[in-house]
Amino acid sequence: MAISDYRNLKIYNSLTRQKEAFKPINDGYVGMYVCGPTVYSNVHLGNVRTFLSFDMVYRYFKHLDYKVRYVRNITDAGHLENDADEGEDRIAKKARLEQIEPMEVVQMYTVDFHDILSKFNFLPPSIEPTATGHIIEQIEIIKTILEKGLAYEINGSVYFDVLKFNETNQYGILSGRKVEDLIHNTRSLDGQSDKKNPQDFALWKKAEPQHIMRWPSPWSDGFPGWHLECTAMSTKYLGEHFDIHGGGMDLKFPHHECEIAQSEASCGQTPVNFWMHANMLTLNGQKMAKSTGNYILPNEMFSGENEILSKAFTPSVVRFFMLQAHYRSILDFSSAALEASEKGFFKLMDAINLIEKLPVSDTSSGFDVTAWKDNCYKAMNDDFNSPILIAELFNAVKFINQIKDGNAEISKEDLDFLSSTFNAFTFDILGLKNLSSASNEDGDKLSDVVEVLIKLRADARTNKDFALSDQIRDQLAAIGIQLKDGKDGTSFSSN
Ligand code: AMP
Ligand code: ZN
Repeated sequence: MAISDYRNLKIYNSLTRQKEAFKPINDGYVGMYVCGPTVYSNVHLGNVRTFLSFDMVYRYFKHLDYKVRYVRNITDAGHLENDADEGEDRIAKKARLEQIEPMEVVQMYTVDFHDILSKFNFLPPSIEPTATGHIIEQIEIIKTILEKGLAYEINGSVYFDVLKFNETNQYGILSGRKVEDLIHNTRSLDGQSDKKNPQDFALWKKAEPQHIMRWPSPWSDGFPGWHLECTAMSTKYLGEHFDIHGGGMDLKFPHHECEIAQSEASCGQTPVNFWMHANMLTLNGQKMAKSTGNYILPNEMFSGENEILSKAFTPSVVRFFMLQAHYRSILDFSSAALEASEKGFFKLMDAINLIEKLPVSDTSSGFDVTAWKDNCYKAMNDDFNSPILIAELFNAVKFINQIKDGNAEISKEDLDFLSSTFNAFTFDILGLKNLSSASNEDGDKLSDVVEVLIKLRADARTNKDFALSDQIRDQLAAIGIQLKDGKDGTSFSSN
């Protein structure tokens, strides 16, 4: 069977609220747009989960031999503190607080984002466009929406006219909200806003004198509304009508709802066939979020430096932990859950590393590898059900361990089949990296050794033997282990 024969994928479409057979607009090609990060702070583990869900989706489409164009943007302007078009630009605010240029903020956190994602073994998207690189395209869309009479200009700002749009289209189609309810539930305008109606949203905002992120436009020196960049970039690189648009559940409203409205207003058609939304990572039962302080950073996972954590975890273990939940389920983070995932992960890796060493027999007994492979595809074809896939992988782990113990047999042909299928699902599709429990134990021992050296260095400092303490620090740095002195003692990280 050719890989493309397994293309009978069903995807849960947030727009229709049901699973639907996936049929690409152009046979053999997939166009996918995913909202990227707003680069004003370090990505937290919650953000990573959403991007990981779409990394898995991208990997699976590639595996099925589709030609995929995956566009994931960088939001480097226009995202205000408050989703209702109020407050300071998040990046400009950070720049003001740090006394640096906004583009320094953007650069710093874009580099961090890429660094974290590469540690988690993400595939880079095909195109990673930025909002600031597409101001002209955004202005052109605003002009079209104004020409169609679905937006209005007031005092140099342009707003989308939701009520007017709703006369001919359905605002709220994605999130299930009704305009009448929005009118009742949206807080009335406080007189500060130029909007005709509170549910209208900004396409262009005139910049206040102190707002430094500004561009010329026919209406004012200003900046685009947050939702517009994704309409501009997805249309530019994937066309007016494309296959998949993804993002975290919290972006459904208003961000994605507004994207649909903008596209329908400017292009006259619905932009996306499949809307996919990844569910949230929670901590203590609450959504992980920078704004509430309820979050954990990826680097804290890798170093173990956070009081929530019992130990450090490698990126593949964290990745595995997340993939053990379906992307549409809420996943609650805890150190204990991570420890359980770590055990499972190394059990899986140890079995994989055993495959090549297994004895072969003339025939196989006790396990149907062909049916197993079909079940693996069935799991992924059912709306990317990675937990079911992982359960299938563990069925094969059981078989591998039975062969090792002499309680089952496998032919050479089946062994090769098992090995290639295992590798495809574990490494290509789930994106895990091959590590053995032995290497993890070595890692734990290394940590213990470094802790001994940290203790010796602390003793040297107490004895005012700074030459020795510096020597310990510098020689560890020379082999890639950095010591960091903090108020709770010394910790280390390695590269
Ligand atoms: P932002 O940089 O705030 O625009 O968020 C980037 C992405 O992370 C968006 O798709 C969000 O929906 C997603 N996201 C934010 N918080 C979480 C969370 N706690 N769990 C999963 N995804 C999240
Ligand atoms: Zn977006």
